[in-house]
Amino acid sequence: MRNVVVTGGSRGFGLGIAVALRSAGYRVIAVARSESELLGEAMHETGGSDGGSLHFRPFDLAHLEGIPKLVSTLRAEFGPLHGLVNNAGLGTSGVLATMRNSEIERLVRLNSVSPILLTKYVVRAMIAEASEGRIVNIASVAGTAGYHGLSVYSATKASLIGFTRSLARELGILGITVNAVAPGFVETEMTASMTERQRHRIARRSALQRLVGTDDVAAAVEFLIGDKARNITGTVLTVDAGGTA
Ligand code: NAP
Repeated sequence: MRNVVVTGGSRGFGLGIAVALRSAGYRVIAVARSESELLGEAMHETGGSDGGSLHFRPFDLAHLEGIPKLVSTLRAEFGPLHGLVNNAGLGTSGVLATMRNSEIERLVRLNSVSPILLTKYVVRAMIAEASEGRIVNIASVAGTAGYHGLSVYSATKASLIGFTRSLARELGILGITVNAVAPGFVETEMTASMTERQRHRIARRSALQRLVGTDDVAAAVEFLIGDKARNITGTVLTVDAGGTA
């Protein structure tokens, strides 16, 4: 069975992605600091007819020094890694001029440095196993469009897009694909502070006049992880109901 690691798989997009991939027949390893109730329930449900499964391994991805060990432990326990979904992230907002340096550092560490390092060690494993692996990075529409109060967050998401494109060039020769998904605003814990009025405005401004859901993001990731996307690499798939069209 193909193993796929989903970071931030305990809630929000990550949980949706993990459940969708399990239903599609993958063995999914969700990584986050703690197991949520929803993830616990999902792990007790039976997988899809294709026999997928869902597992949880706790790890703080801000602990950069522990990343090589995390990857070797997962390989030893589950076997070759087919896919990595870099989804865990912080959504801290703030006006740059008043944002604390420690907050800026935390954001960059978790949203940019951590997925780059994790990818490095997972890719090494994929190369060693001659696996036609799949990397999917969860970016954001904020990586290419400007939003007040999101300059640092935007910088981290733009970094993932640049990382995706150049790494796709490096790994293409090995048959490993690297893509990004750029969601618009979706209701998760990260965006819980948004008011009803803000939600309404985002929906009204989108081409399709609605907000996207976690399942839309999960479907995009499932496609990019799957065999049907074998000739797609270095792309950014925007999932925002046409909000930035
Ligand atoms: P969320 O609901 O806040 O979930 C974040 C996930 O990341 C949780 O599973 C959390 O688990 C995990 N996480 C946070 N810090 C971690 C750490 N230090 N180590 C390990 N895991 C950690 O976020 P979301 O809305 O689903 O967002 C997921 C991704 O989509 C993020 O990269 C975000 O930037 C991106 N995105 C979100 C939106 C949106 O509108 N929601 C739009 C565009 C892009 P623990 O807290 O247990 O560690």
